[in-house]
Amino acid sequence: MSDWQIPLSDLNYGAAESRAVERVLLSGWLSMGPEVQAFETEFADFIGTRHAIAVCNGTAALHLAFCALRVGNTDEVIQPAVNFVAAANMTVAVGATPVFADITGLEEPTIAPVEIERNISSKTRAVVVMHYGGYPCNMAAIKRLCEKYNLALIEDACHAVGAHYLYSGGNAPVGEMVGNLGDIACFSFFSNKNLPIGEGGMITTNRDDLAQELRILRSHGMSTMTWDRHKGHAHSYEVNTHGYNYRLDEIRAALGRTQLPQLSANNARRKQLVLRYQAKLSSCPGWTIPFQNFAGDSAYHLMVVVAPTTELRSQVAHCLRENGIQTSMHYPCISQFKAFARFAHGNTNKSQLFSSRALTLPLFPSMSTDQVDAVCFNLLDAVERETQRA
Ligand SMILES: *Cc1c(COP(=O)(O)O)cnc(C)c1O
Repeated sequence: MSDWQIPLSDLNYGAAESRAVERVLLSGWLSMGPEVQAFETEFADFIGTRHAIAVCNGTAALHLAFCALRVGNTDEVIQPAVNFVAAANMTVAVGATPVFADITGLEEPTIAPVEIERNISSKTRAVVVMHYGGYPCNMAAIKRLCEKYNLALIEDACHAVGAHYLYSGGNAPVGEMVGNLGDIACFSFFSNKNLPIGEGGMITTNRDDLAQELRILRSHGMSTMTWDRHKGHAHSYEVNTHGYNYRLDEIRAALGRTQLPQLSANNARRKQLVLRYQAKLSSCPGWTIPFQNFAGDSAYHLMVVVAPTTELRSQVAHCLRENGIQTSMHYPCISQFKAFARFAHGNTNKSQLFSSRALTLPLFPSMSTDQVDAVCFNLLDAVERETQRA
């Protein structure tokens, strides 16, 4: 519950989630165990990857991705300047250097393949892509670059659970699920994501060697798990490498197993709402709606519009707030943060422009079309009044 008339996002939780939590409470086992295992299997089936490894959040997933791919000291990791700060922070955490590449443009605020290529040096080890708002990046071009220069490819797929990428070429375009498009993909199940469980994450990969490494790193570098010892399958363990405790617990895994079967319908509902937003707002003079002509299936995580000026963005956000409508912005350009100033060399002009004008509007599966209409009405009304005043 929130004080907003129309919040930015909202859970779609009901009796099934309560029953799932109760099932775990009655089972007598709270930490990583059978619910986590089942969630991993069900998630891998859904994404179509050989492996899914559950972790405690999306940031831990990114950290383990770098560790398993042996990204570290003196390595450079090319990544988008428009992203949540987690991938950049984890790059620094493993001792590597983030190199920020610019986005394609205001209509397509995902990392530009030409900007990736421009930033490749002898130190480049990996590329991180982020499927902004749930819309897959230009993966055909990016995969070609990673193969050509022998770079690891990590998907920050935290916005994009359930999204499909379409490779065009030949007669019929061929689709592939996000989570299959690089060496490793990282998902988040934070409260406001498309598959919310509070805190949680998942790593997917089709490589057996990486999967094994990731499982060991997730739990202290130990060769056996607590659950196996609890069941009498093992009574001791070896420590083969220096790991972490990034395990997911049974309660959250059970919530994930309850939310996962609802995801496709929720994403389809998000799509309907996004199409309605686009129809109502596309003629707003000077405003840009990213991904309007997107081919493929987005996860429709965010509804973002780009104002003609920074000033108009803040005026409109203010008017919406006065009317009980919550907005946000995704994201400030990372190279402009204080902590990242020492990594801010490259060209990030389009990223800075996007960050200075992007506005995120409410979007969640239980949102009504009347609520979309109310947001649009208030936005258009604010634009008209501000334009007349100017
Ligand atoms: C949410 C998010 C993360 C971090 O996930 P947590 O589960 O909050 O740690 C990383 N990248 C992106 C793009 C995100 O949206």
